[in-house]
Amino acid sequence: MSEIDKMDLNATINPRRQSWVASANDPSCDFPIQNLPFGIFSDNSNPLARVGVALGDAIVDLTVLADHGLLPQAREVFACSTLNDFILLGQLQWRDLRIRLSTLFDRDNSTLRDDPKLRDISLIAQSDARLYLPVDIPGYTDFYSSKEHATNVGLMFRDPKNALLPNWLEIPIGYNGRASSVVVSGTPINRPQGQIKRPDSDRPVYASSQKLDIELEVGFIVGSNTTLGEPIQCEHAENHIFGMVLLNDWSARDIQQWEYVPLGPFNSKGFATTISPWIVTLDALEPFRCNQPAQLPEPLSYLHHIGQHGFDIRLEVDLRGAEDSEADTITRTNFRHMYWTMAQQLTHHTSSGCNVRVGDLMGSGTISGPTPDSYGSLLELTWNGQRPLTLVSGEQRTFLEDGDEVGLRGWCQGHGYRVGFGSCLGKIVPAVGRG
Ligand code: MN
Repeated sequence: MSEIDKMDLNATINPRRQSWVASANDPSCDFPIQNLPFGIFSDNSNPLARVGVALGDAIVDLTVLADHGLLPQAREVFACSTLNDFILLGQLQWRDLRIRLSTLFDRDNSTLRDDPKLRDISLIAQSDARLYLPVDIPGYTDFYSSKEHATNVGLMFRDPKNALLPNWLEIPIGYNGRASSVVVSGTPINRPQGQIKRPDSDRPVYASSQKLDIELEVGFIVGSNTTLGEPIQCEHAENHIFGMVLLNDWSARDIQQWEYVPLGPFNSKGFATTISPWIVTLDALEPFRCNQPAQLPEPLSYLHHIGQHGFDIRLEVDLRGAEDSEADTITRTNFRHMYWTMAQQLTHHTSSGCNVRVGDLMGSGTISGPTPDSYGSLLELTWNGQRPLTLVSGEQRTFLEDGDEVGLRGWCQGHGYRVGFGSCLGKIVPAVGRG
């Protein structure tokens, strides 16, 4: 980018910039003019799924703005039911569009503000819209990058004296997950069934999971296709990331405990993963960079990067039982606690020569903080069911019951505004019988 473009890009994160879309200036709104996250939506007036940007309580219909020659790109990349074609255009184009939108919706820009007819057809109320999975996801990888989470799991299931396995401090541990079952916020989650081996019997049974759990995670969406055989360099890795979403990696702990040796989780994780509908770009998250935790031993040189690669993202989980009028916030934590950075995860993923593709989803791993009220799973919050949670309603929970609704929330707190992720909801419904 030229110097002038850099100035324009910096202006998009200016905390003082306000929009003529009044709801975007509410300090508690997830979608101020500094955010501009991308998603896929339709509405009653136009049932075709297409690309939009969240702003205040509205969605900017990019096909309409492109039709009127107000965007750097042609309408074709926005008249799509996924963001993949737009993402494939590359980082310069993402930034060009961001700068254009930030300018168009600036309080002092009259182009759209003073054109009521165009304004009305280009802004759709979020309450009237349906949101879809924002990308076609060729592959889903889940990491295991919270030192606190890995330590807690080691304490529970392995040797408490050696809770962290020796490879954990050298490798951003991950496994290849299941892309076909990634769903958008609001999709009901059927209670999974599988092989469960009870301690008092010799053989497993095939049954509904009784230890259905959440995993509070964030995910990043890969922004470019890489070449088979060519590793990404760690210092450039963030250029290959389009943006981030909230991610709930639903997990069946009883199925997991029986199946995970020797090759790791399979059906216990593959039945569903929920993500939030809006992808928040790294450009929007730039003001919220922070130091990653100190890494000891020093990682191998291919995992070195200089500067700040952590992000200060506040995270909360709400749980609401079927009969409860209000939700309980069961955990509060922060993405900044993560030991391995997204750049290191992506670098490690391609370090063997494995290629990645536009739309690939990479989960952070369960995000647990250092204190018991900041753990990112019920497994840890209830210590494998030994310490039930008491909800506001007086009900107790170890793991999820049918009818429970879980919502993740995430936001970066600025001065007088927040860059938020919207909602990531899922409700548990009973298991379906075998067809
Ligand atoms: Mn996970």
